[in-house]
Amino acid sequence: MFQSLSDRLSGILDKLTRRGALTESDVGEAMREVRRALLEADVALDVVRDFIDKVKAKAIGQEVLRSITPGQMVIKIVNDELVAMLGSEGSTIDLHATPPVAIMMVGLQGSGKTTTTAKIAKRLTDRDKKKVLMASLDVRRPAAQEQLRVLGEQTSVDTLPIVAGQTPQQIAKRAVDAARLGGYDVVLLDTAGRIHIDEELMRESVEVRDIARPHETLLVADSLTGQDAVNVAKAFDERIGITGIVLTRADGDARGGAALSMRAVTGKPIKLLGVGEKWDALEDFHPARVASRILGMGDVVTLVEKAAQTIDAEKATKIAEKMKKGIFDLDDMAEQLKQMQRIGGMSGVLGMMPGMGKIKAQIADANLDDGILKRQHAIITSMTPQERRNPKVLDARRKRRIAAGSGTKVEDVNKLVKMHRQMADMMKSLGRNKGMLNRLVGGPGR
Ligand code: GDP
Repeated sequence: MFQSLSDRLSGILDKLTRRGALTESDVGEAMREVRRALLEADVALDVVRDFIDKVKAKAIGQEVLRSITPGQMVIKIVNDELVAMLGSEGSTIDLHATPPVAIMMVGLQGSGKTTTTAKIAKRLTDRDKKKVLMASLDVRRPAAQEQLRVLGEQTSVDTLPIVAGQTPQQIAKRAVDAARLGGYDVVLLDTAGRIHIDEELMRESVEVRDIARPHETLLVADSLTGQDAVNVAKAFDERIGITGIVLTRADGDARGGAALSMRAVTGKPIKLLGVGEKWDALEDFHPARVASRILGMGDVVTLVEKAAQTIDAEKATKIAEKMKKGIFDLDDMAEQLKQMQRIGGMSGVLGMMPGMGKIKAQIADANLDDGILKRQHAIITSMTPQERRNPKVLDARRKRRIAAGSGTKVEDVNKLVKMHRQMADMMKSLGRNKGMLNRLVGGPGR
């Protein structure tokens, strides 16, 4: 799921981060593209409109546009709104009720309802150590009850014995009674589906609901049906009142719009994703993770949050300018060391950047671990301004003086000078790669 949407959005947002300064019209243009991408991914029009309005309202403020990393700030705003749209808090099946807790499964025929019922039963049994009973209330499809019985055998979950000729309402009552008498923690009711929503189905579901008094009523919807899935969810919620949604076939190449609109349209959380036909192909739905997957931005969001709090904008811009010209002296290095210390060390910063693993290893080789940042800073401040601008003048006598002044050894001074040379080389090559440089320091890049 989400692949093509993710490609589109990361393309649009990447363009934003590559430009240094942003104007209102840059953001406006990007938002028009985001809007188009979301609509093509099948997200409901109202939801898209609301989303774009919110992002724009936050992104066009002067604070964002004037910041050192406007593109990344916009990404963060898009990300936050995406998470909100998906249901920020995240939620899973709620079993906090007096057992047996009844869970009623509803949805159209073919949505994956029976499979999902068995997957949930198996997960509650294996992972949560619950005693679970399943019952099929589908008396329409001739083989439905038998199908669930077989699934129960395969997953080692108990099923309610089949009694021919009973109505769904009678089966519901029998299931709840059996669960109570048998000391079950959970009873899962797999109701009948239909090809379309019809009045008879709704009436039957309401009656079953009133008998079983489910603590959770989960709608199973096929994400491949896109916009239709959203309409189905809305209809079921209005008539029966659902407590959550399970989106199946999230492993397929659905455009993802259903997942994105579900929450906003129904106000009910997506609780689980079905991601295949196997028993364990069931995942919790984490809005934040899904959003970052859609944006394809690694942990840039976390990085921006941290950096925004700590980096001194003016200084960072100055360094970025010099780096672009291939200049990186010891004063710059001292400044970098100080800023790095504030955001959790070089390894902390690089660990959050997508694709920075290689440089991170080089820095580890250069012995730049966070513990010695402070000492290195002391060495640099013991130098004269001339030495800092031009480390080549550092001879043995000067090095002894600096070591004494900073409470270190000549050896340490040598190491620092060597490291500076390596960093300067790295900065130079980064300076040639403008896209990478802007990601790192967010300086103006045109
Ligand atoms: P029901 O009519 O709603 O009860 O649908 P079933 O549970 O019988 O499922 C119909 C088909 O969809 C079966 O072949 C399932 O294996 C398949 N299916 C269910 N959930 C998923 C899923 O998350 N991913 C994939 N790829 N197939 C699924």
